Amino acid sequence: MRIIETVSEMQQLAHTWHQNQHRIALVPTMGYLHEGHLALMRKGVELSDVAVVSIFVNPTQFGPGEDFERYPRNSERDLRLAQDLGMDAVFMPPSETMYPTGYQTYVEVTEVTLPLCGQSRPGHFRGVTTVVAKLFHIVQPDVAVFGEKDFQQLVTIRRMVQDLNMNVAVVGHPIVREADGLAMSSRNAYLSDRQRQSALGLNRSLKQAQELVNSGESRGEVIVQKVRNTLQRCEDLRLDYVELRQPDTLEAVERLQGPTLLALAAYVGNTRLIDNCILTLAV
Ligand code: AMP
Repeated sequence: MRIIETVSEMQQLAHTWHQNQHRIALVPTMGYLHEGHLALMRKGVELSDVAVVSIFVNPTQFGPGEDFERYPRNSERDLRLAQDLGMDAVFMPPSETMYPTGYQTYVEVTEVTLPLCGQSRPGHFRGVTTVVAKLFHIVQPDVAVFGEKDFQQLVTIRRMVQDLNMNVAVVGHPIVREADGLAMSSRNAYLSDRQRQSALGLNRSLKQAQELVNSGESRGEVIVQKVRNTLQRCEDLRLDYVELRQPDTLEAVERLQGPTLLALAAYVGNTRLIDNCILTLAV
């Protein structure tokens, strides 16, 4: 497995791979790898001849006062996991390599980044699309794998790829959960045992919403209220948003008529967690 820290080496390697007719997969991550990341990486390996995982805690997607400095990092363990999984390369550039002095170019997707996490984290998606566009130019993937855990991110990347005519197939991967239902996240490392119990309310509330829909409920406000009630009972949990949205466009949904995204974000202590599911109507 190649460990690459410079843009020129990564671009050169990608160029050689393409010359040899290899299909390249990229899995962008911020490291501190968990089973969710590993599932995406397996998908990348399956869909390509050569698979690259990028590990980069991207400063431009963190707002002031967010957890950039204390975001968990463990390169040694990440490299071991990537190697065991059969990745061909890890691209882990230092921050100055991606954003050298004088850097001033950003990629911005508009409408789909405005609601949900875009409301509470202004500038976040601009940082995400900028770094992903850069990674696409550097790694030149034919296919890139993203998790549905960050559903709005996936929709945003698809929009960017379409709007900027990028020749990359974007593949979404379902959310990978712990045995007790908590969506895997590098940020789960911040949670105390009690907070982790509280965080289970997120997935529980999603399941309750689907049960409500199964019982025939289709009114958005009733479904959202049910989720809110469940989450309000969780200790040390502060709700950011609970929303129903159309999965492709992220337009607001008031009454369920087909598959609908139920997305939520909450702070458990100081840790911001997100989760979502696609609600499907009873047949
Ligand atoms: P991150 O390192 O948090 O930026 O995540 C890197 C990629 O892994 C993103 O595409 C995430 O959506 C995806 N991801 C993170 N957690 C999960 C999970 N529990 N299940 C599926 N994908 C995930």
